[in-house]
Amino acid sequence: MRYLILSDIHSNLDALNAVLADAKGKYDRILCCGDIVGYGPDPSAVTTWAKENVDVIIRGNHDKACAGLEDLDWFNPVARASALWTMEQMDAANLEWLRALPQGPIQEDGIVLVHGSPLDEDEYLITEIDVEQIGPYLGGRIWIFGHTHLQGGFLCNTKGVQRIQLRVAMDPVTLPLGANRSWLINPGSVGQPRDIDPRAAWILWDSEERAVTFCRTEYDVRTTQKKILDAGLPEILAVRLESGR
Ligand code: ZN
Repeated sequence: MRYLILSDIHSNLDALNAVLADAKGKYDRILCCGDIVGYGPDPSAVTTWAKENVDVIIRGNHDKACAGLEDLDWFNPVARASALWTMEQMDAANLEWLRALPQGPIQEDGIVLVHGSPLDEDEYLITEIDVEQIGPYLGGRIWIFGHTHLQGGFLCNTKGVQRIQLRVAMDPVTLPLGANRSWLINPGSVGQPRDIDPRAAWILWDSEERAVTFCRTEYDVRTTQKKILDAGLPEILAVRLESGR
């Protein structure tokens, strides 16, 4: 089975539509690692799309916040402002759907979906040290995680933790995931990449080949930026889409 796996769409409909056009015909099912909403200007449209099209989905911290399940005092002022704005935009049915999203981990055809880390949905896995600390819990599985908005991930074997290095000029890159070791794979963020590449990030997972393909798609950032500014959302949310940080 071939899967399109998305994470951290963050209410960015323009990026999502570009990814769907690029991925057309290359997958059978869609999986998502959370953070459907927050930051971006199209929460209702993106939520309605996810509701109707994603086969397996777990919640992210922004989904929790926008659904009223998280104390917004823990959010930085920009994230808090966007969460409050998002709540105002969404109708009751979409908010209820967000509120009911399951927490990871969820297993699906040889992989396990989590938002932050296998142990804590809110934890960031950024460095090799972060991953070393959870090494004993990884159990030789393939984990798909999001939350950091950094495409790539880590390989853990008896020699330790190795970061998966992706070269921007070479995408899409297909990586066969060898057995007898643990993999942590991050699709990157569709709607707000932070790895200095403003293109929308996503992956394809082929469960028969045991291979993941890292992909990037260009989209019309300016249209999204204009929507963010017109909505009165914090300006930094528009600026960072262009720099990819
Ligand atoms: Zn996120």
